[in-house]
Amino acid sequence: VTLFEALDKAGGMLRYGIPEFRLPRQVLDEEIGRIIQSGASLRTGVRIGEDMTVEELLGDFDAVLLAAGCYKSIPLNVPGAALKGVYPGLEFMMGVCASRTPVIGDRVLVIGAGFTAFDCARSALRLGANHVSICLRRTEEDLAVTKDEVLETKKEGIKIQSLMLSRRVVGSERVEGVEFVRTRPGDPDPDGKRAIIAIEGSEFMIPADSVIVATGQRPEPMEAGSEREERGVPLADRESFRTARKGLYVAGDYLTGPRRSSKRWAWDAGRRKGLPGT
Ligand SMILES: Cc1cc2nc3c(=O)[nH]c(=O)nc-3n(C[C@H](O)[C@H](O)[C@H](O)COP(=O)(O)OP(=O)(O)OC[C@H]3O[C@@H](n4cnc5c(N)ncnc54)[C@H](O)[C@@H]3O)c2cc1C
Repeated sequence: VTLFEALDKAGGMLRYGIPEFRLPRQVLDEEIGRIIQSGASLRTGVRIGEDMTVEELLGDFDAVLLAAGCYKSIPLNVPGAALKGVYPGLEFMMGVCASRTPVIGDRVLVIGAGFTAFDCARSALRLGANHVSICLRRTEEDLAVTKDEVLETKKEGIKIQSLMLSRRVVGSERVEGVEFVRTRPGDPDPDGKRAIIAIEGSEFMIPADSVIVATGQRPEPMEAGSEREERGVPLADRESFRTARKGLYVAGDYLTGPRRSSKRWAWDAGRRKGLPGT
């Protein structure tokens, strides 16, 4: 088994996204070490789609599993989102993990409700911000992160503010605040996710020195000579991970998009596909 990794080290989001205070790198290195010891070989610095094509891999190997994660941040689609001081959440976290941190100031608003939003907020606090809020469109009940994570976050002094939708980022050159509108939950969709209804006329402003946007990530499209879904990822069955092309599989966040308990899921997916060390 050969693992191809675009970056200089293996580990994906566990190394380049999740902060060290939540996942000590020694633990990760030991886990990866065990996978390599069990016989897999690792080739880092090889970006599939640029340095090698999927076509070439399919020529060299009997089976190819694409598990390239979701590395494109979904931007905040409101006026002012391009102002200085507005950071995409994943890039912010990747900067933190690589000790490249921007100047964020004292008051930080994090927009989002998932793992990335919580890690951004807790990292902002550790970078010296004194007032950090996580701004939710829905309520705490709808959060995908664990109760422990919410508790820890609050204990550290981070505010979790519910039922608000960003309307615009305000500032002349750099961000000075965000205008929100109040929301109320609507009916749930077939997945149980409640609709968000903006309450017109309820607009309000929160001043901020920085805004971190953690509203989701997308996969990078990849050409694999197989039918692709709308996101550009080869179309695959969610249970068997098979594509229509013989020997080609898709798994992990790359298949599902970032999701609740996805780390556990990605590991389970690897185990089902018989990847070494899982
Ligand atoms: C800040 C943050 C906090 C999180 N916290 C949690 C948590 O507490 N609990 C939880 O369950 N989940 C959490 N997650 C989600 C979890 O990290 C992911 O679900 C999990 O890492 C997905 O694993 P994966 O193997 O599918 O993808 P990834 O971990 O993203 O790995 C994909 C790998 O593919 C490589 N790659 C990408 N493109 C190419 C290419 N073209 N060629 C070669 N290599 C490529 C990447 O560099 C990366 O190493 C968090 C995510 C983030 C960002």
